[in-house]
Amino acid sequence: MLDAALQSTYDEVMRRNPGEPEFRQAVHEVFESLEVLQERQPEYNDAGIITRLCEPERQIIFRVPWVDDQGTVQVNRGFRVEYNSALGPYKGGLRFHPSVNLGIVKFLGFEQIFKNSLTGLPIGGGKGGSDFDPHGRSDGEVMRFCQSFMTELHRHIGEYTDVPAGDIGVGAREIGFLFGQFKRLTNRYEAGVLTGKGLDWGGSLVRKEATGYGSAIFADEMLKARDSGFEGRRVGVSGSGNVAIYSIEKAQQLGGIPVTASDSSGYVVDEDGIDLDLLKQIKEVERGRISVYAERRGGNARFVAGGSVWDVPVAIALPSATQNELDEKAAKTLVANGVEAVSEGANMPCTPEAVALFREAGVAFGPGKAANAGGVATSALEMQQNASRDTWTFEYTEERLTQIMRGIHATCLETAEEFDRPGDYVVGANVAGFRKVADAMMAFGVI
Ligand code: NAP
Repeated sequence: MLDAALQSTYDEVMRRNPGEPEFRQAVHEVFESLEVLQERQPEYNDAGIITRLCEPERQIIFRVPWVDDQGTVQVNRGFRVEYNSALGPYKGGLRFHPSVNLGIVKFLGFEQIFKNSLTGLPIGGGKGGSDFDPHGRSDGEVMRFCQSFMTELHRHIGEYTDVPAGDIGVGAREIGFLFGQFKRLTNRYEAGVLTGKGLDWGGSLVRKEATGYGSAIFADEMLKARDSGFEGRRVGVSGSGNVAIYSIEKAQQLGGIPVTASDSSGYVVDEDGIDLDLLKQIKEVERGRISVYAERRGGNARFVAGGSVWDVPVAIALPSATQNELDEKAAKTLVANGVEAVSEGANMPCTPEAVALFREAGVAFGPGKAANAGGVATSALEMQQNASRDTWTFEYTEERLTQIMRGIHATCLETAEEFDRPGDYVVGANVAGFRKVADAMMAFGVI
């Protein structure tokens, strides 16, 4: 139950944002956590901070026309939601996936505000993307789409304004096409306008690995806090994209045994532990389907079409594909199989019912806005390197990432403790992330 004033703010946000289930879900979770803050510091709500925070500062929707390899004109829709710039320029990825709509971009942008705040770095929150599906498209088609997308987007972004990066469907190839078009249109080598760039042209070492590494490090911190760890434990990972691959890599380095990976066609389970070189070859080089992994690996690896990757018994779960991929049924199975920690590499991969089950069962649960903040944190490190015309070593950058993840973990735990919710990383992340943004907004007056 929310207190009356907070409830009234919540009702108003719901009234203003119909038909956007993912956005409403993300807002609901934050309001539940803010209840504890409302009891002690009602001034944030009284000053309209929460209402303002739920309303994006700016939303841009645009037409993206391009010509496919058959000469047919295609039209997609582009989005950029510049959500909140209290702490720095808007920062957040671009997602290219057929499911993208305004509500999904708003949910991701809203989460991004708190996530970016938790990193302790000077970045605001934003998100963007398109309903374009890069699967099955040639490099030429992807390039023409990206060039058209940037032809509009370039008016709105800049190193001091808004700094996009990758997300689902947007990796190094897409960032290359986007940056090339930005440079051509503006006649400026403004490296800090995009992150996730190639290493030869302004990118940062460890950026590619950062989100997955960070999510595994966060899981490790949660386990250490209960005198446990990765060593010799089975790890379940969903997805086989950027976040999944590097979650597997770090989990292996920490002594864990990742046994699964998936994509939208099904999942593989490999009882001998995932062969990472093979997975990278299939997914990063050949852009193939996950079933190919089982075919080539042979032995104890098998592909299961459809189905739930969470049926596989594991001690540590790193959901790293997409929103709402781990539901109540999957959570029940994981708990019955003795899962000890769940760290959200993806954004909001667990449904509210699944999260409730994990919390009831005493599973260490790291919400995405804390657990997957390593990606955006390393993007901010990329911006630092661009601003100082410098490049850092892998070791130094990874050390910075590790310290940032440990810092986020500690902040979540301390904040949860402060509000008498020990061990509740959801409350810790939401309250700590919110407070910093809210204090900055208070200082700025009503804007
Ligand atoms: P990616 O490289 O495009 O990989 C996405 C993976 O998830 C693919 O294996 C994809 O399979 C699978 N997937 C996507 N939609 C799916 C669906 N509806 N059902 C089943 N599988 C699906 O993307 P990514 O960068 O790894 O992002 C994964 C998640 O992490 C997203 O929630 C993203 O917002 C979050 N995240 C990413 C970063 C980052 O730095 N990249 C940072 C923070 C959070 P198919 O290829 O078959 O679609």
